[in-house]
Amino acid sequence: MNTVVCPECEAEITLEASTEVGEIIVCPDCGVDLEITALNPAACQLAPMEQEDWGE
Ligand SMILES: [Zn+2]
Repeated sequence: MNTVVCPECEAEITLEASTEVGEIIVCPDCGVDLEITALNPAACQLAPMEQEDWGE
């Protein structure tokens, strides 16, 4: 199971099995948007704030 650490609040976030690189997740602790940058091992970075169209 992949986990990443929020760069904002250092919370450990468990990724769903279907998570892909480039996906945006929301930290359940501080609510910041995080972009998945790698898997195995998983890594993330703060997502750009100005973009709001993630193509749902
Ligand atoms: Zn956080």
